[in-house]
Amino acid sequence: MIRAVHHFPQGFYWGTATSSHQVEGGMLNNDWAAWEQLPGRVVQDHKAGLACDWWGGRWREDFDRAAETGQNAHRLSIEWSRVEPSPGSWDQAALESYQEIIQGALERGLMPMVSLQHFTLPQWLAERGGWLSEEIVPHFEGYVRKVVEHLQDWVGLWITINEPNVQAYLGYGSSQFPPGGESIGDAFRALRNMLLAHTAAYRAIHLLQDGAQVGLAHHYRGMRPLNARNPLDRVTAALRSTLFNRVLPRALIDGRLRLPLPRERIEGAAGAQDFYGLNYYTREHVSFDLRRPGELFGRGSFPPDADLSPGGFIANDPDGMWEALRWARRFRLPIYITENGVEDAEDRIRPRYLAGHIRQVWQAANLNWKILGYFHWTLVDNFEWDRGWTQRFGLWELDPQTQERRKRDSADFYAEICRSNSISTDMVARYAPEALPQLFPGRQPGLLG
Ligand code: BGC
Repeated sequence: MIRAVHHFPQGFYWGTATSSHQVEGGMLNNDWAAWEQLPGRVVQDHKAGLACDWWGGRWREDFDRAAETGQNAHRLSIEWSRVEPSPGSWDQAALESYQEIIQGALERGLMPMVSLQHFTLPQWLAERGGWLSEEIVPHFEGYVRKVVEHLQDWVGLWITINEPNVQAYLGYGSSQFPPGGESIGDAFRALRNMLLAHTAAYRAIHLLQDGAQVGLAHHYRGMRPLNARNPLDRVTAALRSTLFNRVLPRALIDGRLRLPLPRERIEGAAGAQDFYGLNYYTREHVSFDLRRPGELFGRGSFPPDADLSPGGFIANDPDGMWEALRWARRFRLPIYITENGVEDAEDRIRPRYLAGHIRQVWQAANLNWKILGYFHWTLVDNFEWDRGWTQRFGLWELDPQTQERRKRDSADFYAEICRSNSISTDMVARYAPEALPQLFPGRQPGLLG
């Protein structure tokens, strides 16, 4: 009987990723907290509320869970609105709380990767135009300096901005995120200002900290034409993919932002990332739709035979991970998978999703592509933005009312992967047997065990 064990490189980082607004709770002073008050903006008018109560201290028990299940890294974010509650005034106690959280991660053997901005903006800044105003750039740089000065003894791995493309298009183009804009021109402007802010932050961090590793978390979503024979679908898919996936990362190669704005070269952007942070969830088909200018005239859908998550939000498509990794590899930088996961309250699809995606990461690492770590989204169910609490991405289930956590089987599966630094036929046979024929072709399912 053929048994395969796919080993990962020694020292590979295994972790989960979280973000401040989604886990901390008690967030009052940012644009998302304000957005959640507006009727109809979040599914069923859900609110982040207490979230996972990390600000109340429950990060301790959740970090225990991560460490006890073999993880050796954690990606978390700092909340700008806590650190700088009003322009130029710094909350020392908040910085100290983050220091404590990060030291707590280190004490448990979790290497921290810290994101400086993950979707939320201080409300005072949102009121001044948010990402639409270039005024944000010096503010971001000032905030980043403050955080890095404070935390540099414990953190060496920084993400400046999480998913600029998602923030720009969902916030300023399709109105799913605050501020609810519906102008594609504004989405481009926001993207440009994020690139300026990232570039300023990148330089600032390197001036402050020797040996810092600084990058972005880039969301990559594979896009293919729904009907490959329809030229409109082909053009729309290519255009959407270029503007969503490629334009910003490419500007970090040569400093040129190829947006339909006045073309410009962004001073200092070329070479301004030390690793490629890759968030991958799914791929989609795109068809032309004249009624959707804010979405670049495209409508996304999944193939009829797709292996869909319960909410229909994600198609389990590990080949898309391979496509995303191939894209990331072009940058000739070390790669971290900074997010990957699926909403699945019943944990039915997650085991095979994990198996399929991690197997693709292994394949790339096995070809000596420089993949340094994988962060699963996420540790414990958390507040899923415009989808509120209706989507559950956690390895642990959370009841936000009682704050009770319950381990899903996928947590055990992931623990075996993390502890052994490998994924094997045997593990897949136990946790996701249905994925065996696809992942280990040639062997008969059912022969194991
Ligand atoms: C975001 C996370 C989010 C996840 C799942 C990513 O785009 O970075 O904050 O929770 O998707 O929806």
